[in-house]
Amino acid sequence: MSDGGPTAARFFERLADGRLRCQLCPHACYLADGQVGLCGVRRSQAGRLELPFAGAVSALAVDPIEKKPLYHFLPGTKAFSVGYLGCNLHCPFCQNYHISQEFTVQPQRLSAAELVQAAIESGCPSLAHTYSEPLIHAEFVIEAMRLARLAGLKNILVSNGYANGPVMAAVYEYCDAINIDLKSWRTDWYASELGGDLATVKASIALAVQKRIHIEVTTLVIPGKTDDPAAIEAAARWLASLDPDIPWHLSAYRPMYRYTIAPTRLASLQSLVSLAGRQLRHVHGGNLASAI
Ligand code: SF4
Repeated sequence: MSDGGPTAARFFERLADGRLRCQLCPHACYLADGQVGLCGVRRSQAGRLELPFAGAVSALAVDPIEKKPLYHFLPGTKAFSVGYLGCNLHCPFCQNYHISQEFTVQPQRLSAAELVQAAIESGCPSLAHTYSEPLIHAEFVIEAMRLARLAGLKNILVSNGYANGPVMAAVYEYCDAINIDLKSWRTDWYASELGGDLATVKASIALAVQKRIHIEVTTLVIPGKTDDPAAIEAAARWLASLDPDIPWHLSAYRPMYRYTIAPTRLASLQSLVSLAGRQLRHVHGGNLASAI
């Protein structure tokens, strides 16, 4: 074990008034000395952007790659999976809120090299950054991906896609496969409920297609929130305009964190899968055990 290693912040700028501005995501947090960004993990300290949670690992597990979910990349294999802490969106239905929002897990510290070594020893062909939001730890993740590629591992990200274009481009340089959450097709809902914006997520998906990264997309189907057939159809049409072979996972929701809405109805999910399937070749119903 190590102290996490000296991961230097990369995506920020110094302002004339002494504050720092984080350039990782569209929140563009202005940080006075000692302040932490909205994601809870990037901090201004003595004129430097510090990354006190770089290499702070909340979970390590060997998962079937289909659990990411990735159904069309190295199918039937296992992915060595690592989770961190924090998120730059604040979804009230987060399925991993204990590590993304509440930091109730005591992390272990690993350097990027130690993480990759653990992945190699697992015998898995891939290393997946998942569970919480990996992009807010982009500097650490990029270093781990660089080392993993040198070691012959494939690099996987499971992400909300909520980062600025230059960050996504830097991540995609080493990324082999990504699953991005397209949480809703409603711009207003992205802003009011999640604290983000749809346009940024769409840009991250489009950039992955442009750079020929294997991409699959996931949408949690929440009754009354994200299950409008017209919105599902519009999103499917947009994805198909990028590439009709993009796999889309429509996952059943179950009540979690601050949401008490009843679980997704199986018949509703199946109907939406069928609807989206008119635009896209690979639409999968997911998390069916949670449906009612
Ligand atoms: S990554 Fe965090 S600190 Fe940086 S802009 Fe986004 S929320 Fe703010």
